[in-house]
Amino acid sequence: MGQAREVVVEALRDLLGKKGVRIQEDDFLPDVIVKPESTEQVSKVLRICNDAGQAVVPIGGRTGLVNGLWQTDGEIGLSLERMNAVEEIDSVNRTMTVQAGCILQVALEAAEDENLLLPLDLGARGSATVGGNVATNAGGNMVIRYGMVRDMILGLEVVLADGTVLSNLNKTLKNNTGYDLKQLFIGAEGTLGVVTRVVFRLRPLPVSQNTALLAVDGFSALEQLLRWMDTHTAGTLSAFEVMWPEFYSYVTRDGSNHRPPLPAGDSFYVLVETRGSDPVADAERFEGVLGEAMEAGLVADAVLTRSQAERNALWEIRDDVLDFFNLGPFIPFDISVTLDRLESFVAMVRSRAEAIDEPICILFGHLGDCNLHVLLGSRRSEAFDPAQIEEIVYGAVEHFGGSVSAEHGVGLAKRSQLHRSRSEAELRVMMSMKHWLDPKNILNPNKIFAATEIAAQ
Ligand SMILES: Cc1cc2nc3c(=O)[nH]c(=O)nc-3n(C[C@H](O)[C@H](O)[C@H](O)COP(=O)(O)OP(=O)(O)OC[C@H]3O[C@@H](n4cnc5c(N)ncnc54)[C@H](O)[C@@H]3O)c2cc1C
Repeated sequence: MGQAREVVVEALRDLLGKKGVRIQEDDFLPDVIVKPESTEQVSKVLRICNDAGQAVVPIGGRTGLVNGLWQTDGEIGLSLERMNAVEEIDSVNRTMTVQAGCILQVALEAAEDENLLLPLDLGARGSATVGGNVATNAGGNMVIRYGMVRDMILGLEVVLADGTVLSNLNKTLKNNTGYDLKQLFIGAEGTLGVVTRVVFRLRPLPVSQNTALLAVDGFSALEQLLRWMDTHTAGTLSAFEVMWPEFYSYVTRDGSNHRPPLPAGDSFYVLVETRGSDPVADAERFEGVLGEAMEAGLVADAVLTRSQAERNALWEIRDDVLDFFNLGPFIPFDISVTLDRLESFVAMVRSRAEAIDEPICILFGHLGDCNLHVLLGSRRSEAFDPAQIEEIVYGAVEHFGGSVSAEHGVGLAKRSQLHRSRSEAELRVMMSMKHWLDPKNILNPNKIFAATEIAAQ
């Protein structure tokens, strides 16, 4: 530890006490982690660090997938884990005010206890924090119905690099009083400020859930089916998860963890779900709409669930991504391309992937959100060439005007690809904003933009 850094750590120890400063030995994460207990303490920590030019990485549940917490320049970690309270559930205004270090699952359950829904759910719910969800603008399983985190936040409290507390714990849906500053910090990955408190908009808790797995022949039928379901399910469509045939046949193969609910061999398998407020009417509507889709030739085969266990079994097939690691090394991509271009995008990736020796090419995604996951690699480890693989996928994303990151942000992992989805003018404005809000570049430096890029502005 350099001398100046030691002085800062000593000042932080004085501020937070022994319990508030921890030394740890993970190679990638900051070795010193501070744990403030209040917004006021976060503000004081940042003021001390900013005065000394000491870099800081905000830390949530550590579930991020783009190396957003990695230490690059002697950073100190700022963990929000002691700021984890659900402060208020306001059932009149249907809002929840929660501290940033609260685990997502705790927030979800607190809302449910009041018969309300926080419409944000994802696989990392048991570890990820609300602050991390905000910082990465998380999506999850219900985006098609409720949008991303960005769409469900009414108010935000953020501490800026110099310690200024920017607090707007607004609870109203309509608030047109000038610039919507909170949106700057949502998805900023801790580079513009530390999120300390969040006001979420809550929704009525759905009481019905209808789920089916459908086999579909051809992309045109798939596209039409999505529109059909969205139009005819009275606003209740909450998931439209598509598995390409290689995904489905591998995950349900003989000896796998799952029995195939439908035979393999069709072009697509769709996990479709509605959630509503009238169990009888919703179930009738769901079955009716699927029946009509079959008659119209949009669905080749279908299986409907009758219990929570059957529903879970279908979701487990969709979520069993870890099984693919048995195939060989691959890179998991998480990209967006608009629906009208998706079929051509997939064709381009598949045809370029033929250049890979014994390719692995697995596709699945939240099609209603235009969000596709691509697992691309090679069954032969010696033939696994990350640069070649990234060029295939990101080159195709650029060609079709898509986004190199649909869900997880940019961090360090996707920094070099950002130019493929954002114009030079946009990048310049973003870097100017970063420079203006954090002139010493102490907040999560080198994430999204390299420190050298910011300095060259
Ligand atoms: C199994 C699994 C499934 C997932 N599924 C989905 C999915 O379906 N949809 C989706 O969108 N995402 C998904 N994710 C990604 C998930 O959304 C993020 O990992 C999560 O939101 C990050 O929260 P965290 O608390 O773990 O943040 P961390 O991993 O600790 O941090 C992530 C980033 O946020 C910054 N940060 C953390 N807290 C703060 C704060 N208080 N203020 C400012 N910056 C902060 C960090 O500096 C870092 O850059 C999944 C991840 C996993 C592991």
